[in-house]
Amino acid sequence: MEQTILIVEDEQRLAELHRDYLQQSGYATEWLADGAEVIAWVKESSPDLILLDLMLPNKDGLEICKEIRSFSTVPIIMVTARVEEIDRLLGLELGADDYICKPFSPREVVARVKTVLRRSSAHPQEKAELLFLDEESYLATLKGKKLDLTAVEFKLLSILAQRPGRIYSRDQLMDLLYSDQRVVCDRTIDSHVKKLRKKIAAVATDVELVHSVYGVGYKYETDLSA
Ligand code: CA
Repeated sequence: MEQTILIVEDEQRLAELHRDYLQQSGYATEWLADGAEVIAWVKESSPDLILLDLMLPNKDGLEICKEIRSFSTVPIIMVTARVEEIDRLLGLELGADDYICKPFSPREVVARVKTVLRRSSAHPQEKAELLFLDEESYLATLKGKKLDLTAVEFKLLSILAQRPGRIYSRDQLMDLLYSDQRVVCDRTIDSHVKKLRKKIAAVATDVELVHSVYGVGYKYETDLSA
C-alpha cells in the first residue's frame, strides 16, 4: 500500500518541490501550510510520516511536534532554517525522528524519509503487535494512538504483553502488580482488566489484546487481522 507523507510547509514553492520528489519516489503526499490545522488532520488521517517545518503561521513546529507525541508515534522529520537550531531542538527532546536543515536537496529529503520509515518499521514491538509500551514514561500507544492508562493498568498490560500467549492466574498477576503485598481481593484484577479492555476498545474497536481464560486467568494475544 502507498505510504502517505504529510508535508507541513508554509512556503508553497518548497512544498511543491517536496511533493514532486516524494511522489516520484512512490509516496502519496498531503500538504498543509497552516500550523493550526495539523493536529486535527493527523488525528483524522494518520499519515505514515510527517515532514514538519519549524516556522509556520499560527502554530510552530515545536508545539505541533510535542502535541503529536502526546497521542502518536508517527515518524516526524523536523525541517529547520538554521543549522544552529538543530542542537537546540535536540536538547528539547521533542521526540522527532530526524532533522533536516534548509537549504537541502529534494533528493536528500527523499533519502531521509526512506531511512526514517525503514527504521520505524523495523521497530518490531510497534509494528508486529501495533502496541508500543514505553516503560520509562508509562506511555502506551496502540496503532499509534495513545492509551490513557493508569500506572496499574500500564503495568498489567506490560506484564501480559511481555509473554504473549502465556496464561497468568489472578494470584500471579496480583503478586506481580502489588509488590508491597497489600491485601487486594481477586476481583481487583478483574476490575483492572475490565477498565483496560474498555480503554483499548476506545482506541481500536477491532483489537482485543487481553483475553480471559475461563476459570484460570488472563493472557495477552493479538488477533489483529490488519
Ligand atoms: Ca516556514
